[in-house]
Amino acid sequence: MFKKILIANRGESAVRVMRTAKRMGIATVAVYSDADAQAMHTTLADEAVHIGGAAASESYLNGERIIQAAKATGAEAIHPGYGFLSENPDFVEAVEKAGLVFIGPSAKSIRAMGLKDAAKQLMDKAGVPVVPGYFGDAQEVVVLATKAREVGYPVLIKARAGGGGKGMRRVDNPDRFAEALAAAKREAKAAFGDQRVIVEKLIETPRHIEVQVFGDRHGNVVHLFERDCSAQRRHQKVIEEAPAPGMSQAMRAAVTQAAVKAAKAIDYCGAGTIEFIADASQGLKPDRFWFMEMNTRLQVEHPVTEMVTGVDLVQWQLRVAAGEALPRTQQEIAVSGHAVEARVYAEDATRDFLPATGTLHHLRFPDETAGATLRIDAGVRQGDAVTPYYDPMIAKVITHAENRGAALAALAEALEATEVAGSTVNTRFLARLVRNPEFAAGRLDTGLIARHQESLTTTAQPESRTIAVAALAASGAKHQPDAIEPFDAIPAYGHFHPLTHRRTIHHGERALTYAITGDGDGRFRVQADGDDDETWQLTPAGDLRMAVWPGHLTVFEDGESFTFALHDPLALAEEAGAGGDSLRAPMPGLVKLVRGAAKEAVKKGQPLLVLEAMKMEHTITAPHDGIIAEIAGEGTQVNDGAVLVRFEEVGDGQ
Ligand code: ADP
Repeated sequence: MFKKILIANRGESAVRVMRTAKRMGIATVAVYSDADAQAMHTTLADEAVHIGGAAASESYLNGERIIQAAKATGAEAIHPGYGFLSENPDFVEAVEKAGLVFIGPSAKSIRAMGLKDAAKQLMDKAGVPVVPGYFGDAQEVVVLATKAREVGYPVLIKARAGGGGKGMRRVDNPDRFAEALAAAKREAKAAFGDQRVIVEKLIETPRHIEVQVFGDRHGNVVHLFERDCSAQRRHQKVIEEAPAPGMSQAMRAAVTQAAVKAAKAIDYCGAGTIEFIADASQGLKPDRFWFMEMNTRLQVEHPVTEMVTGVDLVQWQLRVAAGEALPRTQQEIAVSGHAVEARVYAEDATRDFLPATGTLHHLRFPDETAGATLRIDAGVRQGDAVTPYYDPMIAKVITHAENRGAALAALAEALEATEVAGSTVNTRFLARLVRNPEFAAGRLDTGLIARHQESLTTTAQPESRTIAVAALAASGAKHQPDAIEPFDAIPAYGHFHPLTHRRTIHHGERALTYAITGDGDGRFRVQADGDDDETWQLTPAGDLRMAVWPGHLTVFEDGESFTFALHDPLALAEEAGAGGDSLRAPMPGLVKLVRGAAKEAVKKGQPLLVLEAMKMEHTITAPHDGIIAEIAGEGTQVNDGAVLVRFEEVGDGQ
């Protein structure tokens, strides 16, 4: 077995591989970009090598630098994780040329499956059922349109080099073909630098069923049963599970045999996935599924297979790459129970799933769930930033139970108990999806999310009592049952009268003002401005979970989270000033106005710049007298924690 390996990836993927390597006593080397110097994967590894700039093209896609890092640290093998270089045959060849082992399939296998047209021709020849369509060389509109008519509308045009659902167009009638073809080609050219397409029959009521396969260097290939990844949004997987709901013995036998046949046809070695599309209009039928593509790497959703089979797939990858035979025969692999995985992303479901960024000031997952095993595969920790440079995945939440119902119930519960503040996340959307009656009944197809998008993504508004609790917390009131005077706990109030304090907080566009009065026994009367009916008797930090973070307060309640902005520019400037001789951005935003320049002497309290964030302007002032060494440029977009102003060091050279 290897003594040391390098992991050519970041985030959740890198962390996942490291966990198994550590368990096996294998030392790990991480690689990291400028943006990831403090990232979880960087700090978790035994060694870490800086490989370049934040942009993936300058770091995680720079194969040469990665190979250099492996040589320099004495790593014997490179694990590519998933994404980045994991399916790049040129990288595999470069790794092998450098005398290192690539933990994955051969360059030849990757090439065979790399393009959808060639892969489909190959599979067709090997006797694997393939979606009816045209996978040939001709690319002229007339030829493709004729083929589309032969295949029968509706059809799907797909980029042969496609991935992630890009370069794909549905066409419902011949009049629309030329236009859709042009659009698919444009998208394919931009995304993959290859505008060639294939034309496929569009399967109505499709289900995405994939089979985990594994091969070794001794000619053995096994399957580890199927996963269902039909819960998709824009052709991207959202929830995955194993086994597939409603799978019959006959269909399972057919689909797993087809997968093994496919892997054998390309002498496959290592972990791989054969993706099939099934026509689920009349349930899963052994003659109604077709090969779609093969992913020649470990998949994001591999944990559900691990949970139901008890196999550590990364451990198998390492053993197979080191030359060992597969640890188990086909007969020794069985499925037990049901596992479901949900992908937690920093994204805003209510704004068409716009990717979000920000620092995860508060991040808490539940420790356990009732009636199921809970597994959290996270790529970040509390305090880490989600940057715009990479995939905004935060974690995968996985549950495993005796049956599907129990696994789903536990997953929904775990998602609702997950607390994130500092960035918008999709946990509420995921929990609603898991609880959706159609999904729960196993009536899945890839259109389910789109059909229910509205009910899955509508925003809940906080109850007025919740806002009152937040306002009380924002006022600084602390629960101190032993305090003689309740206001002893509130520094701002002091010991003088009157004892009513007004506090304004903001929820979205709404400004909410409350009058807060201590009643002498540790409780407070909290009254909405000018509304006598909206009055509550509350104790600070009473019955709601909440997180306080720079400029904000987030309340977690019944699976929802409500974030209130405190919008106190003075406090924000102070917060920003806490970083020593630099002023840091308290939240991601835009530098709108700059009132200072390098070498300029400034006085304490002098406004230096205005940061626009969360639709509000915040004036950043000098925390002390000093000389500016560096100041952010007007119009720059900054992440939170970014240095806005740096002061020259005092006492230097004196
Ligand atoms: P990509 O490589 O871009 O991910 P795939 O070929 O793997 O593209 O397809 C992605 C998804 O698109 C599938 O999971 C399925 O939801 C949908 N899809 C693909 N082919 C078809 C088809 N012939 N009919 C209907 N839906 C399809």
